[in-house]
Amino acid sequence: MERRNFLKSGSLALLLTAHWPKPTNFRSLKVDTLREAARDISVIGEYDVIVTGAGPAGVSAAIEAGRTGAKTLLIETHGCLGGVWTAGYLTWILDNKNKPGLMQEIMQKLQSKPNAATIPSGSTFSFDAEDMKLLLEELCAEAKVDVLFFTRVVSAAQEKGRLTHVFTESKSGREAWKGKLFIDCTGDGDLA
Ligand SMILES: Cc1cc2nc3c(=O)[nH]c(=O)nc-3n(C[C@H](O)[C@H](O)[C@H](O)COP(=O)(O)OP(=O)(O)OC[C@H]3O[C@@H](n4cnc5c(N)ncnc54)[C@H](O)[C@@H]3O)c2cc1C
Repeated sequence: MERRNFLKSGSLALLLTAHWPKPTNFRSLKVDTLREAARDISVIGEYDVIVTGAGPAGVSAAIEAGRTGAKTLLIETHGCLGGVWTAGYLTWILDNKNKPGLMQEIMQKLQSKPNAATIPSGSTFSFDAEDMKLLLEELCAEAKVDVLFFTRVVSAAQEKGRLTHVFTESKSGREAWKGKLFIDCTGDGDLA
């Protein structure tokens, strides 16, 4: 879909949703408050670069950081890399023409996959979500990026106005990760 048509259909969807009944705001039904006990959190790892969110932005930032030799951690709340590209199942890359660097590399590698459903057409490029997940994992592994799946960034610590750690929640509980440099690619600015 061309960018203009994509934006048009987005506006139409917004117009339609304006007429839907409003959902219940459960937070307004608050009955009480509790104070959680303070606890010590283990610092599990120390990295040069910590990237939060593994959508197209985060995965690219992590791969490029890893390729420079920086010890890099990529934290993702879903069970796959790619964000809207894969977990969101929006398997069209719009406006991809004449894009150099990683974008070009990703497109070339997807096209060469034996079971790829890649159909370059006009200025859009479609791909198979499973191929994309696998390729992004391969690129991260090659760049020696450590990846944490099913892990949500929930908080951060700072010292003298500088970010020092992120806190995560996962099946392993609450954990902390020390970093020298942080890149927020959550799409919602969760870390920021
Ligand atoms: C409805 C819709 C349709 C679109 N269709 C297209 C299309 O067809 N073609 C196209 O090229 N572009 C499309 N786009 C645009 C494209 O999806 C975005 O430009 C792109 O996904 C932005 O990448 P991102 O990495 O910034 O964010 P995202 O893809 O949103 O990735 C953010 C990642 O961060 C993770 N995350 C969020 N919070 C946390 C947290 N606290 N801790 C850990 N991880 C977290 C999320 O799980 C996600 O994986 C569409 C966008 C929307 C909303």
